[in-house]
Amino acid sequence: MLIDCYECKAKVSDTAASCPHCGALPADSDRSLSVAVSDLDMKFSTIFWFLIKASFAAVPAVVVLYTASTIIGGVLSPLLHL
Ligand SMILES: [Zn+2]
Repeated sequence: MLIDCYECKAKVSDTAASCPHCGALPADSDRSLSVAVSDLDMKFSTIFWFLIKASFAAVPAVVVLYTASTIIGGVLSPLLHL
């Protein structure tokens, strides 16, 4: 199938790697590239916010573990010293 080159408007096969008239890459490859980039951006921000949330979620977890170990240590250490 022939498509119009977006650069020189010549008829170019949609399977051609680039326009034989002006050498422009097909619009499709441009589009898939920008999709890949925006997909990467979204994944990066998702990972970024996941790390932010995880670091906030880790604070109460550390507090609970510290409190639990303090309580357990406070209960166990007098027993161990008997
Ligand atoms: Zn062209």
